[in-house]
This record gives sequence, C-alpha cells and structure tokens, in this order.
Amino acid sequence: MGKQQNRVPLDSKVDLSDYDAGYTGDFKSKREAKEQVKANLLRMDELQERMFAEGKHALLIVLQAMDAGGKDSTIRHVMDGFNPQGCHVVGFGVPTELERDHDLLWRIQPHAPPRGHVTIFNRSHYEDVLVVRVNELVPKKVWQARYKAINAFEKLLADSGVTILKFYLHISKDEQKERFQDRLDRPEKNWKFNPGDLKTREQWGDYMHAFEDVFAKCNHPWAPWYIVPANKKWYRNWVVSSAIVEAMEKMDIKYPPAPEGLDKIVIE
Ligand code: AMP
Ligand code: MG
Repeated sequence: MGKQQNRVPLDSKVDLSDYDAGYTGDFKSKREAKEQVKANLLRMDELQERMFAEGKHALLIVLQAMDAGGKDSTIRHVMDGFNPQGCHVVGFGVPTELERDHDLLWRIQPHAPPRGHVTIFNRSHYEDVLVVRVNELVPKKVWQARYKAINAFEKLLADSGVTILKFYLHISKDEQKERFQDRLDRPEKNWKFNPGDLKTREQWGDYMHAFEDVFAKCNHPWAPWYIVPANKKWYRNWVVSSAIVEAMEKMDIKYPPAPEGLDKIVIE
C-alpha cells in the first residue's frame, strides 16, 4: 500500500478496505514520533492558552471508532496537551428515555464548546447514523434524513467560530480481537470488556459501510473527517495531535490587546 492521506479527500467515495489501519507513515522509529507528539502537546498548550485569553474561537474534537478503537486512550494521551481549565470531555452513551423523546441534537447542542474553550466528544451525534442505522433502531427514512441535520448543525457551529475536527480511529478487526483478548486476560482491564461489543464486532462490515457513508455525506472544509490509522497508538497520537496543532495555528489567535494605561500602573 502506498502513501496514505489521513484527511478524507473532499467529494470522494471512501472504501475503508483501502485504508491500512497499521500504517505508520514515514517514521523510522516509534521514538521519533513520540518526540514529535511531545512537541505537539507543548504547542497545543500554548495555543489553547491564547485561545482562552482571546475568547473568540472554540475547538470541537469529535472522536468515533469501533469498540477498543482507542478513543479513551487518545483522550488520555493527546488531550493531555490541554489545560483542564477550558477543556471539556463529553461522552455520549445509549440515550436515556428522555433523550430518545427528543430530536438527536437535543442532547448534543448544549455541549458545544463556548468561545475560548475546547470540547472533546467521546462518541457523538454520529452514533445516530452508525449504531442506530446498523441496528435499524429507527426506520431508514428517519436516519437517512439525519445527515442533512448533522451538516446544518456543524455549519452553524462553524459559522459561530467553532473549529471542528472529526477523527475516526481506524483499527483492523484483528487488532480489535487482540485488544478484546487483553481485556479478558488482564484483571485490571476486565471492567472494560463488554460482551455486547462482540455483537458489534459481528456487524463489522455494516459499520464500515455506515462510516463510509458518513465520510461521503458529512465531510466539509469547515468540519473535516480524518481517518486515523490507529493500530499503532504512537502513530495515532501523532496524527491526532498534528491535526489539532495545524487547525489551531490556522485560527490566527491573538492575545487580546492590553487595556490602556497598563504602563502607568505602579504596584507599591
Ligand atoms: P461506551 O463508549 O463503551 O461507553 O459505550 C457507549 C454505547 O452507547 C455504545 O455501544 C454506543 O453505540 C451507544 N450509543 C451511543 N449513542 C447512541 C445512540 N444515539 N443510540 C444508540 N446507542 C448509542
Ligand atoms: Mg465500550
């Protein structure tokens, strides 16, 4: 397999079987990547502080993956670059009865990042066109109409100053097997094993198609999708942290101008 692009090309149909989940780019060693990740995290810290001070821009990071795809670990390792003050992580699980009685964005929208802040969605509104679609939890007509609603929602956020980055952490089915086995074998990991995940594993192909449709319908310059090769955690961390730094550099964040007269203040 040749060089792999991480950002999903616009207006193109993605076939996930063309994407190597074990891809590690041009890196000669894991150490080399880890050094770069360290530098990225330092830069994220600086940029976030400036973003917080300026209070104009916001950043929304959406993480999606198959089970054991590494969402929690990405939050643990990459988001370490952010100051917890000004950074929020929101997980979206099976909707409550009250949530199900509302439109799909009802539970999502209140968690959009306020100006100056970063919010990470651990799963998101996309579950409503992934798990819901694969398991036919609503009629086809209903989930099919959701892509449009999702696009409108994300455009509204983008127009309101939110930079949106969406990461699909791509692991292979073999890698998932190893990670599940690890959860079974190590007592301290047992709590992470969910027998229900085995059913989702059986639906692997259906999920891949559902993801491919998401990339075809909900990939825009203002809310791009990244397909992150995630079998190797160090490469995954490099891709995600590099994309965050690149996007934050583009925000052109400036410290707010100093209030007038600061130079005349004398502290006794
Ligand atoms: P976890 O991320 O391991 O805590 O699992 C959360 C579970 O909630 C996953 O099985 C998701 O598929 C499920 N989930 C999240 N959003 C929805 C939704 N909108 N409808 C149905 N299930 C969902
Ligand atoms: Mg789970």
